[in-house]
Amino acid sequence: MSRSLSIFGATGSVGEQTLDLVRRNRADWNVVALTANSNVAALADAAREFAAEVAVVADERHLDDLRDALAGSGIEAAAGRSALCEAAARPVDMTVAAIVGCAGLGPVMAAIEQGGTIALANKEALVSAGEVMTAAVDRHGATLLPVDSEHNAIFQCLQGGELADVRSITLTASGGPLRLVEDLSAVTPEQAIAHPNWDMGAKISVDSATMFNKGLELIEAHHLFPVGLDRIRIVVHPQSVIHSMVEYRDGSTLAQLGPSDMRVPIASCLAWPARMDTPMAPLDLPAIGEMSFFAPDEARFPATRLAREAAEAGGAAPAVLNAANEIAVAAFLDRKIPFSRIALLVEDVLNQGDLPSPPQTLEDVLRVDEDARALAMRMLEPA
Ligand code: NAD
Ligand code: MG
Repeated sequence: MSRSLSIFGATGSVGEQTLDLVRRNRADWNVVALTANSNVAALADAAREFAAEVAVVADERHLDDLRDALAGSGIEAAAGRSALCEAAARPVDMTVAAIVGCAGLGPVMAAIEQGGTIALANKEALVSAGEVMTAAVDRHGATLLPVDSEHNAIFQCLQGGELADVRSITLTASGGPLRLVEDLSAVTPEQAIAHPNWDMGAKISVDSATMFNKGLELIEAHHLFPVGLDRIRIVVHPQSVIHSMVEYRDGSTLAQLGPSDMRVPIASCLAWPARMDTPMAPLDLPAIGEMSFFAPDEARFPATRLAREAAEAGGAAPAVLNAANEIAVAAFLDRKIPFSRIALLVEDVLNQGDLPSPPQTLEDVLRVDEDARALAMRMLEPA
C-alpha cells in the first residue's frame, strides 16, 4: 500500500535527495504537495514527474509562471506563504520539512497540527520555535523524526534506550572547510561553501564553515532529546564517519556510522520504524583507515559558545540567534560583510538591549524573528 507524502523545499538539496529515494521506490509513495521558493521550472518538473496534487511557490510573483508550467497537467498551482501553510495542512502520512531558514516554520507548524509524521530537516524552525513547537507536537500527537544526520544518528542510538539512562550525547562535527585555514577574515563565499564531506545548500554550508551549524544542532538536540544541555557535547571528527553518539550510564556508548550522504538519514525517516534500500556502497572501514577527534576551537569559531549561551538563556534567545545568523549569512554570501563578521554580528544582536519575552505562540516566534532580522539589518548599515 502506498503512503502519502509532501515535501516542503522540494527543489533544494534535501528535497531533491528525498525525491531521488521516492523515484527509486515509486510505487511506495503518493506525492501530495511539493514546494519551492522561486525555482518554478524545477518545481513544475518534479510535480509532473511525481504527479503531485499541488505545487506551491513561496514567492507570489512566480504564480503565473507556475500556472503556465503546469498547464494541462491537472496539478493545482498556488503561491505565497499562506498557500504553503494550506498545503502543509493537507493530511499526509509523511511531511518532509526541507525549507531552509525560519521561513519553513509556518508549514512545519501547520503539518504538526495535522498530527502526522514530520521528517524535519529544517533545523532553523525548531531552533526558533523551541518549546512552542515541541508543545504543539505533544498537543497534536504528531511525530517528529530528525533528518539532520547527527540527530538521526542519536535517534537511532536511542531506540530501545531510555533518556533517563543517558549520561551524555556527543554531536560530531566535521569542523567545516575552514578548520585549518589561518586567516578567517579573507575567506570568500566560494571557500566557505566548499564543504569537504557533504554537498549541501549554500546557507547550511556557510553555517558549517562558521560552526553555527553545530550551534543550531546543539539547540536542536536540546529540544529533541531533553537530557539537559550540560550532557550534550560537541566533538570535531573531520572524517564524518560517526554521525553522533549516545553514552549510557553503564558506560556503553552507541554510535551510528555511515557514508556522508543525506539519503541515509532521509531513508531512515521515510521507512521508520522499518528500513528501506538505498544505493549506498557498504561501509569500507579499511578504506577509511583512521578516525580522529578534537575539541572544538571556540576561540576561532565562537558560534557553538554563542548557541550554548542562547540555549541556556532560553526563551527568545535562540530565535534571535537564528535570525541574526540568517541575516549575517545572506550578507556574507552577498559579499557585504567579511566571514569573520558573521559571529560578531550575531553576538552584537544578542547583546543589544533586553531580549524579547519568551514566545508562547507561533505568532510570538515570528515577531521575535522579524524584529531580530530588522535589528541585524540596521546593525549592518554603515554608521
Ligand atoms: P537548499 O538551499 O538546497 O534548499 C532549500 C529549499 O527551501 C529549496 O527548495 C528552496 O526553494 C526552499 N526555500 C528557500 N527559501 C524559502 C522561503 N523563503 N520560503 C519557502 N521556501 C524556501 O537547502 P538544503 O541544504 O536542502 O537545506 C534545507 C534544510 O535542511 C536546512 O534547514 C538545512 O539546515 C537542513 N539540512 C540540510 C542538509 C543538507 O545536506 N543539505 C543536512 C542537514 C540539514
Ligand atoms: Mg547536521
